[in-house]
Amino acid sequence: MKRKDNEDDNTQKKKCKKEMISRVEMLERLINVRQDIVAQVDVFGTQQLYNSSMSLKTKDEITAAAMLRLHQLENGLTISSIRKLTISELDQLLIPVGFHKKKAHQILTIAKTLEESYDNDIPQTTLELYQQMQLPGIGPKVARLIMLVAWKKADGIIVDTHVHRISHRLGWTSKEAAKFAEASRRELEEWVPRQHWPQFSQALIGFGQSYCSSLHPKCSLCPLSDHCPYFCNT
Ligand code: SF4
Repeated sequence: MKRKDNEDDNTQKKKCKKEMISRVEMLERLINVRQDIVAQVDVFGTQQLYNSSMSLKTKDEITAAAMLRLHQLENGLTISSIRKLTISELDQLLIPVGFHKKKAHQILTIAKTLEESYDNDIPQTTLELYQQMQLPGIGPKVARLIMLVAWKKADGIIVDTHVHRISHRLGWTSKEAAKFAEASRRELEEWVPRQHWPQFSQALIGFGQSYCSSLHPKCSLCPLSDHCPYFCNT
């Protein structure tokens, strides 16, 4: 199998282009490619809250499987369907998500707050979601991601593990920035055109979930491989 992968990579590498394209052109290609991919990050609104609450210290595929189980609840995955569960029922649905007991508790607290204070919806600003509500497990980065998915609002570029890795592989950030997500964010915000901020993080996160994973990127199938420095120069 490994040998077959190597052969596929070698065939694909012959298509690597010598001429460079700009970062913005490459980004626009990626955004286009993402329009045909439905990734885990594309789940919307309150569902993203649950997804984000579960994803800490848990692999994407384990979080996705737990989300699927929650979607199979009677009436689907909604605030009220979560509210009907006991902690132990929710806990059973989350296993084997990391820290599932603690996360079951957090998710029920989130659902209760949204039901009682926000009429079964989520607030419309990062400030409310993060600072005022003090929801368990929701920091500023996750709050921005939820704003993005739920309301299409971007007040900065969100750099999660996927955005950090892919930006570096595509040569969009410096070697120094590769060490710290915050440094990547600063460099990206310097050149990514503002009109692309709303799509940027969601496009890269979904691309990481579908093609450019940490350990086994699908380079031989990747639609960006012809101009990817990580693939073409190794
Ligand atoms: S070619 Fe490989 S490393 Fe480059 S963007 Fe595609 S999946 Fe990622």
